[in-house]
Amino acid sequence: MPLMINQVSKIEKEYSVIVAGAGPVGCVIAERLASQLGWKVLLVDKRAHIAGNCFDTRHESGVLIHRYGPHYFRSNKIDLVNYLSNFTKWIPGNYIVKSSVNNDLYPFPINLLTLRQFFKQPDLNAEQAEALLASRREHFPNPANSEEFVLSRVGRELYEAFYLGYTLKQWNIHPRDLAPSVCGRIPVRLNTDERYVDHEYQLTPAEGFTNMFTNMVSHPNIDVMLETDFETLRHSLKPGIATVYTGQIDEYFDFKLGKLPWRSLQFEFKEEPTEYTQPCVQINYPNEHGYTRTVEIKHVTGQKHPHTVISYEYPTAEGDPYYPIPMEANAALYDRYKALAEEETANNNVYFCGRLAEYKYFNTDEVIERALHTFNLIKNRYEH
Ligand code: UDP
Repeated sequence: MPLMINQVSKIEKEYSVIVAGAGPVGCVIAERLASQLGWKVLLVDKRAHIAGNCFDTRHESGVLIHRYGPHYFRSNKIDLVNYLSNFTKWIPGNYIVKSSVNNDLYPFPINLLTLRQFFKQPDLNAEQAEALLASRREHFPNPANSEEFVLSRVGRELYEAFYLGYTLKQWNIHPRDLAPSVCGRIPVRLNTDERYVDHEYQLTPAEGFTNMFTNMVSHPNIDVMLETDFETLRHSLKPGIATVYTGQIDEYFDFKLGKLPWRSLQFEFKEEPTEYTQPCVQINYPNEHGYTRTVEIKHVTGQKHPHTVISYEYPTAEGDPYYPIPMEANAALYDRYKALAEEETANNNVYFCGRLAEYKYFNTDEVIERALHTFNLIKNRYEH
């Protein structure tokens, strides 16, 4: 089936809603407004494509890549999976990560197999592993930062081998200055489950994320305008009902309270003339190289191709905003912007939603739930 997006080059219609940003949030809200309320929606994005950072595309070799880093869809909510199933078929999400420490590859997140290998105790069982960790844990009943959190969970040796270097490279901030949730999102397991996360549904769109979001916005009530900065339309084009803004919140307010800091990434893609070069989709390098991880997304997409492409991820201070930086001062500045946003919602019907607009690192499933929540706010306010 050919994929159609109603891309417009000039604006001819009256739109009920303008959605700024065609990432997951923008696509979901546009789709709901168009299909459930029958509203006309203009979806605008700066980039030359939809799907935001979930964008997957073919490398010049023909190998499918995740252009802005790996996206591993997972959820515990069948309703969410069912909603997305309107726009895609699925294949299982083969999300296996290993960490390269002292030139050996270890299962990561830390599990029983990691502990056996790291402490050279091949027969360790779960009970002994718990005793071993208990003997190494440091006592922080209420960890105040990521360092304390990890030390209180696995002790110093594992912290220094698997977390410290990676976190320094990823954030350029010491784990003791980062919120506990940064490293806290990684599980530690005393079984041999090697999956990266625990969620019940771990899936990947069979034809990719771009295909799923393209199907989502292929609705006659949605027009898509790419390579267009919302800023250039904002003052000339007024929607009939509301605006949904998924860009950076500080930019919306012309940075008048100051800039919210972001951590960025640069990606290098290298083709290799072999089917696979890695044993699994992702290898983390906590203690060596300038990059944090290498990703061979073929393990997830299931694509058959004689060549492979590896992406190397380099964290940087400059560039597109990827990660909000979870420190107290930033949260306080965001709160001040949030107060402005709430006024803007009340007075001018502008809704702020998503990672950039809420200064919060959402996973793909979380951000889609967030979009559905915002859709419900809009629906409840305007539908009579
Ligand atoms: N982390 C780590 N070692 C690793 C992987 C992750 O210390 O091998 C820490 C690091 O601070 C990172 C956080 O855990 O920012 C969250 O990792 P995750 O893999 O969930 O990050 P994402 O894939 O979202 O970049």
